Amino acid sequence: MWSTARPTQTAEWLCTRCGTTNRKLLAPKASDGADRCVHCRLKHTIARGDTPVRWDAKAA
Ligand SMILES: [Zn+2]
Repeated sequence: MWSTARPTQTAEWLCTRCGTTNRKLLAPKASDGADRCVHCRLKHTIARGDTPVRWDAKAA
């Protein structure tokens, strides 16, 4: 049961292959991470971008 809201940040990133917008929940202080596109399943590394919400993604 996860009834308690835990502090997280939402990293929003665009797939470099298909352009799909993906979202990943990360620990509050994380500055990078890894995720897979929900549409084409291409793996990406993501890093904090210009804004707290929109992150830069690179195909991994
Ligand atoms: Zn994709």
